[in-house]
Amino acid sequence: MTPELENPTERALSRWENEGGATLPAALRDQFPGLAGGWHYLDTAATAQKPQAVIDATVRAMGADYATVHRGVYARSANMTVAYEAARERVARFIGGQADEVVFVRGATEAINLVAHSYPRVVGSGGRVLLSVLEHHSNIVPWQLAGWQVDVCPLTEDGRIDLDAAERMLTSEHTMVAFAHVSNVLGSVLDAPRAAELAHRVGAKLLLDGCQAVPRLPVDVAALNCDFYVFSGHKLYGPTGIGALWARHDLLAAMPPWQGGGSMIDKVTFAQTTYAPAPTRFEAGTPAIVEVMGLHAAIDYVSGLGLAAIHAHEAALVGQLRRELAARNDITLFGPEDSAGIVSFAMDGVHPHDLGTILDEEGPDGTSVAIRAGHHCAQPLMAHLGVAATARASFGLYSDESDIAALLRGIERTRRIFG
Ligand code: PMP
Repeated sequence: MTPELENPTERALSRWENEGGATLPAALRDQFPGLAGGWHYLDTAATAQKPQAVIDATVRAMGADYATVHRGVYARSANMTVAYEAARERVARFIGGQADEVVFVRGATEAINLVAHSYPRVVGSGGRVLLSVLEHHSNIVPWQLAGWQVDVCPLTEDGRIDLDAAERMLTSEHTMVAFAHVSNVLGSVLDAPRAAELAHRVGAKLLLDGCQAVPRLPVDVAALNCDFYVFSGHKLYGPTGIGALWARHDLLAAMPPWQGGGSMIDKVTFAQTTYAPAPTRFEAGTPAIVEVMGLHAAIDYVSGLGLAAIHAHEAALVGQLRRELAARNDITLFGPEDSAGIVSFAMDGVHPHDLGTILDEEGPDGTSVAIRAGHHCAQPLMAHLGVAATARASFGLYSDESDIAALLRGIERTRRIFG
């Protein structure tokens, strides 16, 4: 007989696991202080609320355990260094890579900037990248800034990156294909192995922007067959200011540093400086020690629940919300049916900002709903959809049917106001 679990949260989690992630235990929500007061938070794609385990890990790292890494000769610093490198191992294991292939960065934005600036020096001057219409600005602007020639792959009717078009567009002049693994607006999931095959066929590398994928799907860089994978910790229930770049070892080893400073060197003289091997070579300066500890705790937390269970849970919520919205005659839905955790829509005669503002006001039940309204840092996609902005509801592992019900009540209230 299984011993009775003492802790109500553990009991609920165990039930959740047994039910295949189809229902969310209310006790799980209690672990997120940011959700206190019954707030209906539907903006997890922007940034996820943090479980107490992550908050505790960062408090410990900033308090009792705090010391610098890679420098101190005293025990506390040595312990922190071990913990810092253990976090690197954990990130690598989480996405199926090796520790020496993981660079800690501020987030996905910094990771893409790093690749866009450093990789051209491996392939010679310049570079040519195939992006897609649905990319986040952070997967557009760094390539422009670094002087890459940019080509843009169109989308299919239902809002996926059109890989047939990519196949037609790719030439041996392309050195990189950089696509979102999951769109932050449409929730569409890329067929990454096919994108990898197309890129590799012409000798290009594949970079995947995994910001919206790592919190929502099991990710294995080997199975995806990509060359670079980037993500941000704060969307994965971890702290802000930390993220990771994973790159195949041979690529990282060939890439020159892009920022100089302490930690990333081997020997410095005024005549000549040599650099540390990768990944240290890419981590100039004192790193985000506290945030790295928080990221480690966040990965342990989501891995404890299981990404497959989180995905199943969010898929059920997406299906329910899309059905409810499709049943209304004043809503246009964007993106494919099977979008991962994210539902973008427009309401006839109501600007998304007005909808967002009304939802934020307390409803008759005393709670409010937070959605995102705007261009979602994807202005080319807005132009493609022919809108200035969309409303976006995005789920997290703590979301449940009460969030959907509150959103629908708020939409109805908005309809009554706008007539
Ligand atoms: N790519 C995607 C798909 C995103 O959703 C985001 C964040 N909205 C980013 C990149 C940029 O992430 P960050 O701002 O954390 O660097």
